[in-house]
Amino acid sequence: MDLYEYQGKQYFARFGIPTSLGGVADTVDEAVEQAEAAGYPVVVKAQVKVGGRGKAGGVKLAADADEVRIHAQNILGLDIKGHVVKRLWVEHASDIAKEYYASFTLDRPAKLHLGMLSAEGGVEIEEVAQTNPDAIARIHIDPVTGLSEDAARAWVDRANLDPEARDQAATLLVRLYHCYVEGDCDLAEINPLILTPEGKVHALDAKVTLDENASFRHPEWEEYEDDSDVDPRERMAKEKGLNYIGLQGTVGIIANGAGLAMSTLDVVTQVGGEAANFLDIGGGANADVMAAALEVINADPAVKAIFVNIFGGITRVDEVAKGIIEAIGRVSLSSPVVMRLDGTNAEQGRALLADHLSDTLIAEPTMLDAARRAVSLATA
Ligand code: GDP
Ligand code: MN
Repeated sequence: MDLYEYQGKQYFARFGIPTSLGGVADTVDEAVEQAEAAGYPVVVKAQVKVGGRGKAGGVKLAADADEVRIHAQNILGLDIKGHVVKRLWVEHASDIAKEYYASFTLDRPAKLHLGMLSAEGGVEIEEVAQTNPDAIARIHIDPVTGLSEDAARAWVDRANLDPEARDQAATLLVRLYHCYVEGDCDLAEINPLILTPEGKVHALDAKVTLDENASFRHPEWEEYEDDSDVDPRERMAKEKGLNYIGLQGTVGIIANGAGLAMSTLDVVTQVGGEAANFLDIGGGANADVMAAALEVINADPAVKAIFVNIFGGITRVDEVAKGIIEAIGRVSLSSPVVMRLDGTNAEQGRALLADHLSDTLIAEPTMLDAARRAVSLATA
């Protein structure tokens, strides 16, 4: 789960990482209030979960209330790479002597944490990695021993930060490491980390991705849950406890098992169609699960046909068939359903469904046949 910059900065603050004084604003008037509280000059910043806001006109300096109004007006509603700005962060502007880059992520192949530090910050790190890879000092950290103050200091020296920044940077990096580990982040990134002309080091930006696998031990993360960017179909599926991912096509997919669901998408593509979703109903697909799956897919206006692909293993096809019959009675569907039912007790399952078959509830003998039928119905 990605955090907005302002949330990332609040997260940083819990671990003692210095940031600028500021506040959030959802309107122009609120932006002025926050600016007055932070003290001029201020910087008005778009809160969107995408990088490169500065280049897109989403980060502006303002010397007084009039300038805050102008910038807030322009930035609110601005579309930055498909993300519409609904909220601003207004903070006291810093003077910048130097811009650095710092981050922690997991290096999976190495099975170690990876810290990256560069005296060339402010620009995108991918760009630095391309044009001047030696400017990035990397450190691998054993999660058991962690990052000591000494190791951090040696790393800072290796990155060639300005001498007056080094002590503060080392302390800050140890804190950022704690934030990353104890805060259960997948990514904790500061770009730019700045040195001010007065010799202070602090974070001017915050990019934090939380590891949702750890949410069970962070009840406080609930406040970060943010529906505004979530696909409404996915929100509905999540409420119903389904394993669903929305896609762009017209063939709704229901399959048991993630592998079969993936293969189903492939087969639909192979015969010239496009899947509207991925949906794995898992094992033991009863009527409730089947009804919930059909409801979610039926609510997607793009869906023109539904392909139910079940291969019974431990899940028995006759049970699935009962589930389908009951679910179809409960949900009034606007698209035809094409079924492929195979595996354990397939015969019994098909026999149960025989009386229910119609123009809109169709059984096909194989996955390929069913895919072809669903795609032709979806494109008819
Ligand atoms: P990003 O473009 O989405 O990464 O947004 P940032 O928060 O990193 O801001 C982009 C750039 O705006 C930074 O690299 C700085 O050069 C500049 N900037 C941001 N805050 C300040 C500030 O307080 N003072 C000054 N002078 N520049 C700032
Ligand atoms: Mn940045």
